[in-house]
Amino acid sequence: MKYDKNFIEKIERQYGLPCYVFDEDAFRENYCDLRNTLKRYYSKYEIAYSYKTNYAPAICKIVKEMGGYAEVVSDMEYAIAKKIGYESSMIVYNGPFKGELLEEHLLNGGIVNIDNMKEIRRIIAFSEKVEKCFNVGIRVNINVGQSFVSRFGIDADSDDLKYAVELINNSKYLKLIGLHCHIGQARNLVAWKSRTEQILQLADKYIEGTPKYLDLGSGMFGKMDEVMASQFTSAIPSYEDYAEVTAKIVYDHYRNLPEEERPILFTEPGTTVDNKYVDLIAQIACLKKIKGKSFGVINASIHNLGDVCTSVSLPIEVVHYSDCSNRDFDAHDFVGYTCLEQDVAYSNYNKGIADSDYLIFGNVGGYSNVDKPPFILPQCAMIGVSNGESYLIKRRETVEDILLTYIV
Ligand SMILES: *Cc1c(COP(=O)(O)O)cnc(C)c1O
Repeated sequence: MKYDKNFIEKIERQYGLPCYVFDEDAFRENYCDLRNTLKRYYSKYEIAYSYKTNYAPAICKIVKEMGGYAEVVSDMEYAIAKKIGYESSMIVYNGPFKGELLEEHLLNGGIVNIDNMKEIRRIIAFSEKVEKCFNVGIRVNINVGQSFVSRFGIDADSDDLKYAVELINNSKYLKLIGLHCHIGQARNLVAWKSRTEQILQLADKYIEGTPKYLDLGSGMFGKMDEVMASQFTSAIPSYEDYAEVTAKIVYDHYRNLPEEERPILFTEPGTTVDNKYVDLIAQIACLKKIKGKSFGVINASIHNLGDVCTSVSLPIEVVHYSDCSNRDFDAHDFVGYTCLEQDVAYSNYNKGIADSDYLIFGNVGGYSNVDKPPFILPQCAMIGVSNGESYLIKRRETVEDILLTYIV
């Protein structure tokens, strides 16, 4: 989005600063681009939006309106999906720590991907108690060349997966209908191709007949500004590139089946669809120089921006507060309002800055507002913009909000 001083001052008056700005129109366009690109290769492709990356109800509702599923990993996220009107059949319940709403979800015909052996026994026991049949999926743990041992799912490289499938097949009420996998920090095409090929092999081996769905999880790069893309060691794949190592391979595998018998293919984008479409407008609170080093203290913190700002330099745009001519061109670290030394939101900005300038940090849609602790200051507001009109997504928090759960 493009920002000017008038627009920012209007936001400041209405909602206060800092403030998140969600670009609804661009979000919709990117969402459709991802979905349509994969659907061109495999018509039964569906998006299950990862709530943990940003569960702002306004955003989740847009996903719902565009036909997306909800991907949740806790009772809290499940409750949010329900609250905005999702049927259980459109909710994918994943994660290593499912709460007590899992049983309700099963009774309502929801999609569940089992993470571990204990969960299988829990679901079997429940099915026997209520004497009802449930369709379930398993999250498989495979290696796609990542440099760490993932702790999620059931190990496909030991006897565990075979044993898990036997438990399900031998149970009276459970049927295995899908497989899931998700590996973080493996966003390249080689890893995605491996993921797709392995899940197809495992489905052929372990699922009787054709699966109802295959879920490849998330971890695709989304679109990003060049200043950000250039900080990664390899080129950022396009959706077309990802489609060729996912949807195309799945299509080739099931091409001889009539369309209605082919499995649904899910991916679970969070950051891919939300990162680029939220900015944070912050402001310089004061400039200082200490032992030759220049700092700009800002009215936000790394907790507002999310962890990503500590590993890459976010795209940043400066809107001048005044037309004062003596801007400071030293390399500034933009540091947060907290009292933490590590609260560095941006290092070495040297394009000229003056007191009270506005800083707009881009690419903060995922793991930002949902990951902000009530540390030192309450959370700021979030607004959406569509067709040039702004609307409130989340009001700024107050001290009363923070104290609500404490006994005062
Ligand atoms: C975190 C997570 C996602 C979303 O991943 P991002 O690529 O970071 O958006 C999707 N599915 C599961 C199971 C996850 O744990």
